Amino acid sequence: MGHEDCIFCKIINGDLPSAKVYEDDYVYAFLDISQVTKGHTLVIPKTHTKNIFETPAEVSKELFERIPKVANAIKEAYNPLGMNLLNNNGADAEQSVFHLHIHLIPRYGEGDGYSPNWTTHTDDYTPDKLQEIAAEINQNIK
Ligand code: AMP
Ligand code: ZN
Repeated sequence: MGHEDCIFCKIINGDLPSAKVYEDDYVYAFLDISQVTKGHTLVIPKTHTKNIFETPAEVSKELFERIPKVANAIKEAYNPLGMNLLNNNGADAEQSVFHLHIHLIPRYGEGDGYSPNWTTHTDDYTPDKLQEIAAEINQNIK
């Protein structure tokens, strides 16, 4: 079972080792092998889906329903100051494993290893422009 050549499907099936955090009928949670911070966990659906764009509502429903459960277990275990959720979709968005996964990255304060690096362009977007963009996206909601 599982998607051929997908390392996360192999982890779900037990063909590859992992440090399992949680498992049920719908999801598998395990430690990221490259820990950004202590307890950095990946939560994945057992159904193979490449990324968020190809994920059926039912799969995302079951996946996201369980995120708070795992997040709170990390919080109980290590008492972080906060937590970032991260999800990369597509190689150009730094996705390197093409089986949908949500990163749960507990935060322990400045210099803990996590540093999102983005630049805002507030000056380019007037309130009217924001309305226009919102409408364009809304027209494509299916
Ligand atoms: P992304 O860049 O969002 O696709 O993240 C993929 C993540 O999977 C990276 O943070 C890797 O460290 C992690 N990863 C890759 N192979 C394994 C593995 N065998 N066990 C645990 N984590 C892995
Ligand atoms: Zn897979």
